Amino acid sequence: PLPALTPKFSNILDQVCIQCYKDFAPNIIEDQAREHIRQNLESFIRQEFPGTRLNLFGSSKNGFGFKQSDLDICMTIDGLETSEGLDCIRIIEELARVLKKHSGLRNVLPITTAKVPIVKFFHVRSSLEVDISLYNTLALHNTRLLSSYAAIDSRVKYLCYTMKVFTKMCDIGDASRGSLSSYAYTLMVLYFLQQRNPPVIPALQEIYKEPKKPEILVDGWNVYFFDKIDELPACWPDYGSNTESVGELWLGLLRFYTEEFDFKEHVICIRRKNLLTTFKKQWTSKYIVIEDPFDLNHNLGAGLSRKMTNFIMKAFINGRRVFGTPIKGFPKEYPSKMEYF
Ligand code: ATP
Ligand code: MG
Repeated sequence: PLPALTPKFSNILDQVCIQCYKDFAPNIIEDQAREHIRQNLESFIRQEFPGTRLNLFGSSKNGFGFKQSDLDICMTIDGLETSEGLDCIRIIEELARVLKKHSGLRNVLPITTAKVPIVKFFHVRSSLEVDISLYNTLALHNTRLLSSYAAIDSRVKYLCYTMKVFTKMCDIGDASRGSLSSYAYTLMVLYFLQQRNPPVIPALQEIYKEPKKPEILVDGWNVYFFDKIDELPACWPDYGSNTESVGELWLGLLRFYTEEFDFKEHVICIRRKNLLTTFKKQWTSKYIVIEDPFDLNHNLGAGLSRKMTNFIMKAFINGRRVFGTPIKGFPKEYPSKMEYF
């Protein structure tokens, strides 16, 4: 059993969580630089492919970006609603050919074997890694969904940053190396905040003013969610009822995923408040099961090996112990920078 959370210790945890945000979030200048890169690339590509449009998505836009996060860009072509009938692999190869002529880029590489074909490259002046994908339309919507959650309450932002720092420190946050993506961990934080009693955030996909839930279909999935966050106090009865501090919630989250949540029985599912069983989804062969909020056939934990699953669960158990145990002689003021991690 962990010692009780004293006000003093709880205060230190608050500071640690807030510091994760302060140290790693980009400032306005860095945000503008991302937008400039997007514009510059768009005009460069348009010289050869008029009608090309580039959109930022992922952590550049979802409210949980790091200074050094990659730049996720989705390419579309004016007048074309979907990628149906397009030879995406050829377009990606053509795009790589064009971008190789750009003097500000290095290591331009088309990756056409992945589930989502992309062009990858390095933008020299900003030292940022860039990925361009085609018609990744659902990702644009899940980016908007995450940014709406971030706008509800500042504790959402602090916890998602803390989770990202934690997963990077523990080396469990790299999907390309068989782990879970940042996106998956963000969904875990949101799910915890929805299931907390009283909840910190609602399930935005379940809130609507119309008699029936509106239907906005993208790639066959309903991407509707309530996005008028300033109207939430009037539409969600639980609004403002959770008054826990960030530090209490962070420890609550580590406890939730190590002691309370039944991974075998339930799906991490943010589209609704009611519990969803792994049995109902027929997703019983994996231990960590995370349903994408829009693409309901997509389990973000599907690629985890048993070994990796154990490694992730151990990181959470260690985290719960480390964050739950006050250290004797812990500095009164938390040191300002954590960038040495
Ligand atoms: P980071 O700061 O680590 O780059 P990120 O949210 O941008 O965080 P990426 O891995 O770069 O994470 O993914 C970019 C975006 O692509 C995500 O925000 C999400 O919209 C989408 N995405 C990533 N992985 C998945 C996935 N497994 N399923 C569905 N969408 C995904
Ligand atoms: Mg990214």
